[in-house]
Amino acid sequence: MNKDKIQSIVSEGRVKLHIFEPTQRKIWTVVGKAGEHWIDPDSNYCSCPGFYFGKINGRGTCYHLESAQVARDTDSVEKIVFSDDEFPAFLAGLVSDL
Ligand SMILES: [Zn+2]
Repeated sequence: MNKDKIQSIVSEGRVKLHIFEPTQRKIWTVVGKAGEHWIDPDSNYCSCPGFYFGKINGRGTCYHLESAQVARDTDSVEKIVFSDDEFPAFLAGLVSDL
């Protein structure tokens, strides 16, 4: 994956951190070419097929996770605050997109 692609994902605010109040539950997503993917940068997980197959091949990362890393390092994460009431619907919507 080239750096320009990661750079454009980051600069376009496509690395998103959804924060649920008041529990501070956090869900990260990255909007890539094929849609929105659920990632967990802390446990190094992404829902995309590239990550799944990369893991089998011992690569262990994908451009979504790399983008999230860059966004964190440069403080370019798009933060969106929700209420906890919205959490179940949000999760359901996310899972149906996968
Ligand atoms: Zn991915």
